[in-house]
Amino acid sequence: MKIKNIRTQTILTPLKKKFKTALRSVDKIENICVFIETKGFTGIGCAVPTAVITGETAMSIKGAIQHIHEALSGLDIRDFEIVMQTLHACMKGNHSAKAAVDMALYDIIGKFYKTPLYRFLGGDGKCLETDMTVSIGTLEEMALDAREAVKNGFSILKLKLGREPGLDVNCLKAVRQAVGPEIRLRIDANQGWSPKQAVSFMDKIARENICIDLLEQPVHARDYKGMKFVRNNTDVPVYADESVFSPQDAMEIINMDAIDGINIKLMKCGGIYNALKIAAITESAGVGCMIGSMMESHIGVTAAAHLAAAKKVITGYDLDAPLFVKKAPAQGGITYNASIITLPDLPGLGHNING
Ligand code: MG
Repeated sequence: MKIKNIRTQTILTPLKKKFKTALRSVDKIENICVFIETKGFTGIGCAVPTAVITGETAMSIKGAIQHIHEALSGLDIRDFEIVMQTLHACMKGNHSAKAAVDMALYDIIGKFYKTPLYRFLGGDGKCLETDMTVSIGTLEEMALDAREAVKNGFSILKLKLGREPGLDVNCLKAVRQAVGPEIRLRIDANQGWSPKQAVSFMDKIARENICIDLLEQPVHARDYKGMKFVRNNTDVPVYADESVFSPQDAMEIINMDAIDGINIKLMKCGGIYNALKIAAITESAGVGCMIGSMMESHIGVTAAAHLAAAKKVITGYDLDAPLFVKKAPAQGGITYNASIITLPDLPGLGHNING
């Protein structure tokens, strides 16, 4: 079960329509697929470069994976803890590259034990209800996208905002009017506001009696004091996304009482191994935990879904990214029935690749 080879393959997948946030606008995904080969088993993982968030580009991910290959080569995958410790110790940062390798390793270990990954992690394979993301746009565009998502069977929407608060309030109002009072709304400002702007936004929507489930990453990622200021001035739960990459970030921001919950993403934290630690920290601290993804294809999101299905503390699912993709880069993995995600019952991640 020694690791013989780690290779990458870049697969470009166009999106059905442009995806826009306060940070970026993308019309295709560059999937850096990773294949890890051992005797008898091949594991698949995938990274996406999100330079404005993680600092990683396609070139840096491929270079990092080459470095990781040298560090892991010859290790026996059954010594899973040693393999994971080596993966994370062999270089600093490069979380998305590590995440791709991590999910391929979990894929192999699931295949070796002939069990789906969610079962290996202790889960019962529950279905997950994902939200649907509405890109940042004009009032009319956002209302239209929201109405369409509801028509397509989604009852939780995540609105991308983070511009001038007055404009954002009007967009949120238009969406609420378009979808009615029953639909649950999550707001993600992607660091777009100052702490005072965020509070001004929350005050305005409170005066308009617009209810939302949670507010994600209102201010700059490293502004933990700003996150705390927003949290102290609203009744709505404030979640950290870009503020938390590592388990250490999670401990620091929780110790400051700056947040009500954390949105875990494998591309930020370096994969399932570290995501489990963050989930355990949130559970121990009694704060909320949800799981999301970058704009990525179903390979990485399938890994996130296995984790989500295994951990009770993870109660929110923001795993709609594959629905934006025109053509999946691999067969198998999770399937969608509108907002409901079903996990594959095959060993490992459940993609159909040889080995
Ligand atoms: Mg976010």
